[in-house]
Amino acid sequence: MEKLENKFYIRTYGCQMNKYDSDIIKALLLKENFKEVSTPEEADYIFINTCAVREHAEKRAIGRLNSLKSLKKNKPETIVGVVGCMAKNHPDLIHHSVVDFLAPPDSYRNLAKWAIAKKSGYIPEDKNEQYSDIFIYPNKISSYLSITRGCNYFCSYCIVPYTRGLIRSRPPNNILEEAEELIDGGMRELTLLGQNINAYYYKGVDFPEILKRVANLKGLKRLNFLTSHPKDIPDNLFSVMAEHNNVTNYLHLPLQSGKDSILTRMNRGYTLKDYLRIIDKARHLLDDLYLSTDIIVGFPGEKEEDFEETLRAVERIRFDQSYMFAYSDRKGTLAALLKDKVDERIKKHRLRRLIEIQNSITMEKASAFKGKKMEVLIVGEAKKGGKIGKNRSGRIIIINGVAKIGSIYIVKINRINGRVPIGEIEKEV
Ligand code: SF4
Repeated sequence: MEKLENKFYIRTYGCQMNKYDSDIIKALLLKENFKEVSTPEEADYIFINTCAVREHAEKRAIGRLNSLKSLKKNKPETIVGVVGCMAKNHPDLIHHSVVDFLAPPDSYRNLAKWAIAKKSGYIPEDKNEQYSDIFIYPNKISSYLSITRGCNYFCSYCIVPYTRGLIRSRPPNNILEEAEELIDGGMRELTLLGQNINAYYYKGVDFPEILKRVANLKGLKRLNFLTSHPKDIPDNLFSVMAEHNNVTNYLHLPLQSGKDSILTRMNRGYTLKDYLRIIDKARHLLDDLYLSTDIIVGFPGEKEEDFEETLRAVERIRFDQSYMFAYSDRKGTLAALLKDKVDERIKKHRLRRLIEIQNSITMEKASAFKGKKMEVLIVGEAKKGGKIGKNRSGRIIIINGVAKIGSIYIVKINRINGRVPIGEIEKEV
């Protein structure tokens, strides 16, 4: 019989945190002499890194597992592991015909051992896991760095605290050490990650302080962070952002609903008024703030007039970008138990109306860039030619002409393509 080599394929669904976790898994597997391949057909081990936050992501992962049936039939020795949040909240997946084992988010340290041993079942988790010693070296201009894992907030619709556990913050020195290694490897743009990043706290060091310490690292040209929670914005956060030229004026601040009673049912812990106060302060202190948000429509109990309040809030706040979703039940959450569910057709209709309004705001805001000059960091090649850059607010700008990845240029925006500003280089900074 042909000897199995440790070739693995990993497919990732979901948010940046999941992509970051896939990098952790890769780093752990490479340490055990596994080799990454680019197709499931070439692999001896297939890992599907799943997301349970929305029904859509779950359906895609299950579709992917179903698509592996013929491969597994022809090559039954292939080991398939479901990793990530669905491994935690869908233990029934162990009965799926292609699945050999389940690896929830805090179990990855044993993944290689488990896969090689061809063990089936559920890899036990370590509740205190932080993967602090696993540094990611993607050797890229832009990189992610997770500073917390888990979340304590239990928003009533969200599965994350159940799948990823309670918040754990990494020690500041450990974060700085990894960031320095990334900078030495050529990284110029860093995004700090946390499910609720403002809740970072380690022995007296809070989020603004760790942001400041990372921003002060030599060679770091852009620093972003995700995701903020309106309940937890520290008083001095925006002044720390304003004081550091390399911290982008970008804030992703989920609003979720414009109606206070719905926010209460969501267990979000703020009102629309609180949210507006935060935005006013941010816009006052940060030039050209790029503001994005998440909005859920059709949460249980949302009446037409409640939804109208969300539309009014969107028109008033004028987000640069919104991630908009129709509510779907997540098994195991409190919201899934609420009785007054909104009809699917109504949810879809509301979502369409919201997207229409937000799209026109996004286009208008992008058009206002025509003729402006700005500092742009080049982060990659654009698919249709030219380069991809990011301005001081983290907004994507497409650059025509010759430019070096990792350098900063003064760029003049001369046209807008859809919602993307296109510019020409004036000079290098
Ligand atoms: S803050 Fe709320 S929505 Fe965000 S991860 Fe925590 S529980 Fe989920």
